Amino acid sequence: MSESRAFCPRCGDPVPDRSASEADDESAVDPLRPGAEVELCDACYFEDFDFVDAPDRIDVRVCAQCGAVYRGNRWVDVGAEDYTDIAIEEVSEALNVHIDVEDVAWQVEPEQIDPNTIRMHCYFTGVVRGTPVEEQVMIPVKMARQTCTRCGRISGDYYASIVQIRAKDRTPTSEETERAKVIANQIVAEMEATGDRNAFVTEVGEVDDGLNIKVSTNKIGKKISNKMVEEFGGTVNDAETLVTEDSDGNEVYRVTFAVRLPPYPPGDVIDLADDDEGPVLVRSARGNLKGVRLTTGERYEASYEEGDSPEARKLGEADDAVDATVVTVEDDNAVQVLDPETYQAKTIARPDYLDPDAETVPVLKSRAGLHVLPDDSDE
Ligand SMILES: [Zn+2]
Ligand SMILES: [Zn+2]
Repeated sequence: MSESRAFCPRCGDPVPDRSASEADDESAVDPLRPGAEVELCDACYFEDFDFVDAPDRIDVRVCAQCGAVYRGNRWVDVGAEDYTDIAIEEVSEALNVHIDVEDVAWQVEPEQIDPNTIRMHCYFTGVVRGTPVEEQVMIPVKMARQTCTRCGRISGDYYASIVQIRAKDRTPTSEETERAKVIANQIVAEMEATGDRNAFVTEVGEVDDGLNIKVSTNKIGKKISNKMVEEFGGTVNDAETLVTEDSDGNEVYRVTFAVRLPPYPPGDVIDLADDDEGPVLVRSARGNLKGVRLTTGERYEASYEEGDSPEARKLGEADDAVDATVVTVEDDNAVQVLDPETYQAKTIARPDYLDPDAETVPVLKSRAGLHVLPDDSDE
């Protein structure tokens, strides 16, 4: 191979063969396209070299409520703690550092001029062509405090959907309503985490027969109600109401999701209308009601037709149970305990979950008599 020499295409000075080690690849000089790959000499290169390309000033529209920043044509959450953070964020978005520079480092010193103006003094260092380079730029950042679309909607109590948490033949338990609140906030948080700025809970309101949750989109309402039914059973019905027309003349509907939780939640003790095999402690109300017989410990499951609402009356709740002293286990079917109210010895049904060595057992006294409950502490 002959020795190749390169010359600066601008001033004609010989250029040292700086790419000798890489000369075999396609970046080698192409004589038919002079200048395309030929590099300028260092003097000419640095004459044109612009380390940092920065705007003269940056105007930022920032939401005074939530700190979102208007970028392009929409509001974006930047996760900034204060206006200085936002200014740093916007400056780093707006800056362009020359692509040839390696080992770029920069630091910034914000100088607050007035509440809405921050001067950003930026110092850059790097290495290009083996030569250390540095540059200082000052960019004024002007903040315009506004209200973003979401905060405007929130302050205007905007909502697109209501989730009504109700229960059949009873009011929802506090466990159910508390869970509904948690689910609503979780779903909104998950949607926010994907960058959805339109997800929010407008209002959570207790009403006599349950809970109303107003949310910003129908999708959120649907997710909340489906999740409630998935966890607690019951049904959900949705109904659309025409509320208005938007600026383009499209009809805007508000959707109400009516969640009806099953009549007997887990923990209820019920007496079934059509049998005399003793009370049932409800274990699950998702799909068909399932539970355990307090007289025998046998499993109970309602028929398909009965679903989660077999005809029954409620006797009490597992939480109402108190400890009773075991006097003696009489046989496989009977146990003698002290009635927790009268302290008289009573012989009652012995379910198979009763621990024969236990000194006390949880019992529930109801219209149906005294019954031993499963000891949930060892489940
Ligand atoms: Zn040159
Ligand atoms: Zn906002």
